[in-house]
Amino acid sequence: MPRTLINVSNRLPVTLGADKITKSSGGLVAALEGLSRDEYAARWIGWPGAAVEPDKQPEVEQTLIDEHGCLPVFLTREEADAFYEGFSNSSVWPLLHYMPNYLRYEPAWWDEYRKVNQRFADRVLATARDGDLVWVHDYQLLLVPAMLRAARPSLRIGFFLHTPFPAYDIFRCHPRRRELVEGMLGADLLGFHTFGYLRHFRSTAANLLSVETEITRVRTADGHRALLGVYPIGINAPKFDRTLDGADHRERQEKFRHTFEGKQIVLSVERMDYTKGILHRLEAVDCYLAGLEDRDKVKFIFVSVPSREGVEEYQELRADVESRIGRLNGKYATLHNSPVHFIHGSVEFADLCALYSIADAGLVTPLIDGMNLVAKEFLACQRDGAAPLILSEFAGAAEELFGALIVNPYDAAAVGKSIAQALAMSPEEKQHRTGPMHARVMRHDAARWAKSFIDDLAAGDGGEADHDTAADVSGAAPQLAQALRSGAPVEMFLDYDGTLRELERDPATARPGDALRALLDRFAAQPNLAVTIISGRTPDDLDAFLGKFPFGLIAEHGAAMRAPGGGSWQRQDEQVDYGWQALVLPILRLYEGGTPGSSVEEKRTSLVWHYRRVDPEFGAWKAKQLAETLGAVTANTPVQVRHGKQIVEIVSTQISKGIAASRLLAALPQDRQPALVLCAGDDTTDESLFTIGSDNLLSVKVGPGPTAASYHARDPAAFRRFLMDALGDGRQPAVCPAR
Ligand code: UDP
Repeated sequence: MPRTLINVSNRLPVTLGADKITKSSGGLVAALEGLSRDEYAARWIGWPGAAVEPDKQPEVEQTLIDEHGCLPVFLTREEADAFYEGFSNSSVWPLLHYMPNYLRYEPAWWDEYRKVNQRFADRVLATARDGDLVWVHDYQLLLVPAMLRAARPSLRIGFFLHTPFPAYDIFRCHPRRRELVEGMLGADLLGFHTFGYLRHFRSTAANLLSVETEITRVRTADGHRALLGVYPIGINAPKFDRTLDGADHRERQEKFRHTFEGKQIVLSVERMDYTKGILHRLEAVDCYLAGLEDRDKVKFIFVSVPSREGVEEYQELRADVESRIGRLNGKYATLHNSPVHFIHGSVEFADLCALYSIADAGLVTPLIDGMNLVAKEFLACQRDGAAPLILSEFAGAAEELFGALIVNPYDAAAVGKSIAQALAMSPEEKQHRTGPMHARVMRHDAARWAKSFIDDLAAGDGGEADHDTAADVSGAAPQLAQALRSGAPVEMFLDYDGTLRELERDPATARPGDALRALLDRFAAQPNLAVTIISGRTPDDLDAFLGKFPFGLIAEHGAAMRAPGGGSWQRQDEQVDYGWQALVLPILRLYEGGTPGSSVEEKRTSLVWHYRRVDPEFGAWKAKQLAETLGAVTANTPVQVRHGKQIVEIVSTQISKGIAASRLLAALPQDRQPALVLCAGDDTTDESLFTIGSDNLLSVKVGPGPTAASYHARDPAAFRRFLMDALGDGRQPAVCPAR
């Protein structure tokens, strides 16, 4: 049975005519059509590209489904304006392309963007079944992956960004930056054209959200893992082959040759967009022409496809380009030639291929571009390796097309020189440069691109998942409830922060909330239950937060202890040697100075270097370095260097939560031996609790990550619920005598 693949993009690959719907043939269509039908059954969800009157919608929808395998999301003109022209093109697009000066933002656009994204997601949810593959495309639908995950986590959700992803310092300008990144992170697999974009996305996620990141992975606070991958998109290669082999191709070539006879042709093709560097390119043409003696022998053809004409910046750009071309032609025209031939319109595909193939050079100089397919299409038409490509280093394509003359589009004089170099290039050099690039773009085409993304999506995480053998804690509820009901003694050793209580950015504010207080009261009312809260916090903190409850308290990972029912704290570390602190502290101070945002905490029993407020990537790198240094320095000292959540902690090996709990259990009299010991924690310090060697141990790790515990709970709320369920409402107290 082929696996269902639902492709979700802003635009459906169709054009609605007055009485006919035609299928378009972009790279994505070709790519999906190239997939084996035995493997995948593809369907498409998107906007048909024009407003359809409500009474016509059922008919249009039926035709789209029956004839094109497309499920439409109908948008009114107002919705399309706010969602597409507004939020997508005037707000997100400029930032993704490093142009915060073009960023415009209106809260109403955001409302519409969310609403429309939800409509797309709902359309998917209405048709998808568990396990289906869903592939969401591009910056118009950034929120869809998380919407899908929230409603149906069983889907395999992929997302591909067809634009660049900028550095965090740019993306952070967006008023909705957090929501946008959270939306993308709903995907199981996120694809980018280059590793640079991937790296920027990862560091943006790390800076904005509380996530853990590795080179190609992001793990969100709720434990979801998003894999990141690099998939450079290709062109519809077979379509170029077909057209170049077509009956009328030569004829079209001849027509153009005749029109531009005696001139070398430099060709630029693009949408009229400020990212494409058209004005900068005209500056470079000016530099080139200024140094040229015979201006009759060269023609620059600029094909500029109208784009986003409703957006003000695009209208201004068009006016600027036209006036700049007017001045340039005025300055350099002779009686026989005007140097720039400007077409503001689209060109038929067969003509485009003929133009690409007769050009003497391709001039592709965007200021920034996710990939730039024109560069690859130009090369596809160089079957004989005849013409060189001048390519901006800021196009994603520059990472693959090594044979191009790579230029900085901001350096007009240098681009001008590259034009001269390209036009004077020997046939051998042209062949040497362009031949391998032609082969590459024909081989790594759109079909290959889509197949590699979809195969990765379908394969899951390729064995990269945590080898988490812990079962969900709900499975342990009967065991705990039974023990509590039996009346036999039950002992609990519970960590506080991140286990009973959600973590806070400022630990001082993490007092018990209502839900936790209710649970703690319920603990206190259970006669056969002894609870010990076991934490890395100081005795003062534990007194302040939990002092009024009848629980045992263990502070500083076991170095201080207070018996249930108040009384004074007893130190447990009289025999412990803390001489190592004098060795370690200067190193930590050195790191504190060299790592802005980090700080050193001096505790009686441990030293801690905190990097929660450091740039996440820099912090993680410095922490690794610090842990390695400390490992070497303390090799012969009874300490453990622990790299925990945003901390590096150096603790005595003579102290641990596990040692403290074991000691308490060993001291229990024979008649108080527990029928069940429940140990729970969220951090690596708590792992020592999970291996204390009790026969009746029930161990629970709270939150994601590898663990030695037998069970895991998703988060503190889930853990509290588990305990509350097992304890019941307390109206039928257990039968054992009060302790
Ligand atoms: N193109 C077109 N009509 C034209 C000229 C070009 O549809 O008259 C196509 C061109 O063949 C290419 C696409 O527009 O496939 C431009 O893609 P690119 O990646 O270069 O830039 P984007 O427009 O996506 O930013």
